[in-house]
Parts: sequence; C-alpha cells; structure tokens
Amino acid sequence: MNVKLTLLDTGYCRQLELFSRKGGRLKNVPFHAIAGLIEHPVHGRFLFDTGYSTRFFEATRAFPYSVYGKLTPVVTEEGQSVRAQLEAQRIAPDSIKGILISHFHADHIGGLRDFPQAQLYCFEQAYAHIRGKTGIAALREGYLPDLMPDDFEERVTFVDRTSPAPLPKAYHPYIEAYDLFGDQSLRLVDLNGHARGQFGVLLRDEVHGEVFLCADAAWSSVAYREHLLPHPFARLIMTDQKAYRENLHKLHQLSRNQSDLRILPTHCEEVWQACKGEFSWRS
Ligand SMILES: [Zn+2]
Repeated sequence: MNVKLTLLDTGYCRQLELFSRKGGRLKNVPFHAIAGLIEHPVHGRFLFDTGYSTRFFEATRAFPYSVYGKLTPVVTEEGQSVRAQLEAQRIAPDSIKGILISHFHADHIGGLRDFPQAQLYCFEQAYAHIRGKTGIAALREGYLPDLMPDDFEERVTFVDRTSPAPLPKAYHPYIEAYDLFGDQSLRLVDLNGHARGQFGVLLRDEVHGEVFLCADAAWSSVAYREHLLPHPFARLIMTDQKAYRENLHKLHQLSRNQSDLRILPTHCEEVWQACKGEFSWRS
C-alpha cells in the first residue's frame, strides 16, 4: 500500500562535521532535525518523529540539562514546530492519529506534547532504557524528560511486542520488520545501536517510490554510501557501538543492493534539501 510522505524541517543544531563522519571537515555545519508526515489512505495521518520545538529551550534551561543545549546549540522558531507547520497548511494537529518515535533523543521528541490525542508507537526496549531517568542519567542518553507527555504510558503501543515478519530478499541484509498495519505500508526495522531500540521505517511514497527513513543509524547519506563511521569521540554517545557499526555496514550494503531505495537519515543535508524539493508539501 502506497502512502504520501512529506518531510518537515524543524530546525537545526550546529556540530563539527568531523564528528559525524570520517573525513568530515573541522567546521561547524547545521544538522537539521527532520520529521515526516505520513498520510495513509486508510489509516490517516501519522508522524515519523517530531523534531525540535521551542520547548527544547525550556527543557534545557536548568543544570544538568543546560549542558545538552551547550553541546548542541539549537536554532528553531515557533513556526518551525511540526504542529505550526501543519496548521500553516490547514491541517488540524488533532487529525494526527499516531506518532512513530524512532528513539528518545531530544531532537526527535521535541514536539510530542503538541499532539495530546495521538497514539504513540515505539519499541519497548527503547522506552525501558530511558523510563524514569532524570538528571545526569537522562542527559547521558540525550533524553530530556520534560519533553515527554505525562500520559505517555496510557497512549503508547510497544511495536516490538508483536512478531516481526520476514522482509523480501531485496532488503537484505535486513531480514525482518514489524508490519504496523499488516499491509506492508509501514514496516518498522530494528536499527538498535545509535540509541537503544531505535527503529527506521520502510514505506513506498505514491510519487517518489521506496523510502527508508533510517533515523540516526547514519548521520549523513555520504556516511552510509561510503561506509564512513563517525569520529571516535562521537561514537561515545552511541548506546551500543558494536550494533551501530553493524547497522551502518548493513545500510551500506542495502544501498548497494537496492539503488532505487531512498535511504533518508534524519539529520542529512541531502534530506534537508529533499524537504524543500520532492518531499515538500504537494496537493
Ligand atoms: Zn539520535
């Protein structure tokens, strides 16, 4: 089943390019936080992550969370939140049926509180890893508890409590995925490593064909295409460095096996361009 994907730029942080991949420049570059609006012909509107919102600034005002704001200086405005962008298109935020949360880093959950009616979907192992964490323990996970809705547990569905289905050979070396609606429209692929229980989403856009939203399994398209690991310093923030390396290698292989598949890392410059290009608003 085809869906319609619109990519939304919610702002960016500045970081040394060198950190994101081997061979990168010793220069600060913007890392945009991209969210996705997925419109399913039967099940309605869903979000893939929610990027930044200005709530990030409130959530990082006090120590120790202020350290997060200093390490990744964020630039975002009121009008850039997913909610504001939907409203600008006359799309009611309460028409969002569900939010797929790839992982719980602050640049992916910044807008969660803007959708108090939406069902929430994540991997249980991801939530179990950050649940109840505050202070330094939360900071170490790139997690800001103030960004989480108070009724998170009442609205969440743990996708990994179901059984994954085998993927066709074309997706090798990925062999299985969680088929959210049982119609192969949204298939969630385990991308553990960058963060515990991170997942990506395979979908087929009605115009632009097959897409793999791979979250932070790679920070740039260059990184998976050329199989370039991040700087060793940046690797320290990965929850599981071995799993991260394995997934980057798998993405690299997948990109070689299936050149028609668009692999879209959340913070990639090329994906940001696609926000303004083929995956921007269309009627
Ligand atoms: Zn992340």
